[in-house]
Amino acid sequence: MADFDLVVRGGTVVTAEGTARCDVGIRDGRIAALGIDLPPGARELDAKDRLVLPGGIDSHCHIEQRVSSGVQNADSWESGTVSAACGGTTTVICFAVQPRGGSIAEAVDAYARLATKAVIDHAFHLQVTDPSPQALGELNDLIAQGHRSLKVFMTNDSVRLDDRQMLEVLAAGREHGALTVIHAENSGAIAFLTDRLLAAGLGAPRYFEWSRPAVVEREAVTRAIALAELVDAPVQIFHVSAAEAAEEIRRARARGVKVWGETCAQYLLLSDADTNRPGFEGAKYICSPAPRGAGNREALWALIRGGVLDIVSSDHAPHRYDDPKGKKLNGEDAPFSRIPNGVPGVETRLPVLFSEGVSAGRIDLPTFVALSSTNPAKLFGLYPKKGAITVGSDADIAVWDPRRRVTIRNAMLHHNVDYTPFEGYEATGWPVTTLSRGEVLCDEGAVTAASGRGRLLLRPAYDTIRPTGRFTTPFDPVHGRIVHD
Ligand code: MN
Ligand code: MN
Repeated sequence: MADFDLVVRGGTVVTAEGTARCDVGIRDGRIAALGIDLPPGARELDAKDRLVLPGGIDSHCHIEQRVSSGVQNADSWESGTVSAACGGTTTVICFAVQPRGGSIAEAVDAYARLATKAVIDHAFHLQVTDPSPQALGELNDLIAQGHRSLKVFMTNDSVRLDDRQMLEVLAAGREHGALTVIHAENSGAIAFLTDRLLAAGLGAPRYFEWSRPAVVEREAVTRAIALAELVDAPVQIFHVSAAEAAEEIRRARARGVKVWGETCAQYLLLSDADTNRPGFEGAKYICSPAPRGAGNREALWALIRGGVLDIVSSDHAPHRYDDPKGKKLNGEDAPFSRIPNGVPGVETRLPVLFSEGVSAGRIDLPTFVALSSTNPAKLFGLYPKKGAITVGSDADIAVWDPRRRVTIRNAMLHHNVDYTPFEGYEATGWPVTTLSRGEVLCDEGAVTAASGRGRLLLRPAYDTIRPTGRFTTPFDPVHGRIVHD
């Protein structure tokens, strides 16, 4: 009998710590051995001239999510996770959304039923839209069950929380052991600017960015951090697109605040030149926060290298373009304020990041692995089960050809969207084979992933997000007592 179910042989293993030539022996879905010249497995995967990486973790994806006002999230759990797998990603974290006035627990149950179609492992962020006493009570149980991240919006009237409500959620997360992730833009500023732009006849997609310039993002990031400090709650700022907003994260970290920053592949490749495309074409690139001027991109890379932005996600938000339930919900003459927001990208995230990062010489290979897999595993309580190539970890592996040149075409992608914002982009470096718990999900474009094999990941309490124990006064507002120390 073979020692291993599968041996990935002859490749270069890359982790967040470094690179090494070695074979990976897999047994019962886990990594059982690492070494040179491992004994044969029942199956062998030739990884000569290939890189062997931990599968990507995309900690910010909208898949089969209930969306408001007639808009349809184009991907099912099956199409979204097949797409993820084909792009080298083996874990996604998506959103169970509380309906206003409704139950979070029921939303989680309903979403978990949909997710039974997933082909890869997945976890949930609990999006709180109405922190009523009942909802806060439910959070206690849900977090204890292992749903250890909460999502809040500071903008978008159908889901946003005010400062007081934000504090209630932050305090609940702090008390029960969950990280709060935040969409940070100033709601009032966006409404004010939008009304003024539309009154001036400036409603084309190209004016979207003018309705939410960098200062709007910077203000909200600053406020989110301040609120988090008040209750000593760990937070991650989602999709930082403006370098000046990221600078506020740097400043807060320097004074000891537990705040992390995420950016997304689109902010490293797209710019306002894309939303400025003529006619309705710019709608394809509308996402919040907005892609900024081209000069901002190198500043984001510097912030990545400096560790201020330490996760690159996709914020996969699949809306079809030529579709009355997608970008054309309100027709091609709709002002930017009535165009559904978001770009698809769960399959293209890693090739874009690899190509723009590693192949272009902006980051090294271990940094790529850290940004795309290991850091999200650590921040969201999945490490070292996920995000690592080490004995005992799940055998979630992406085998890459670092030299392969692929021109991205929507036709080759597996999402249920009729466009990609990266159409025509020539990537250098491509994930050729993806394994989840030792099973081949896709190989050279051939998909063998079985619907329903993915598992819901419940996350035990973990240390990364432990509060600092510091409040701004001697009073601990989370537990309602004076702190004596
Ligand atoms: Mn968002
Ligand atoms: Mn999002």
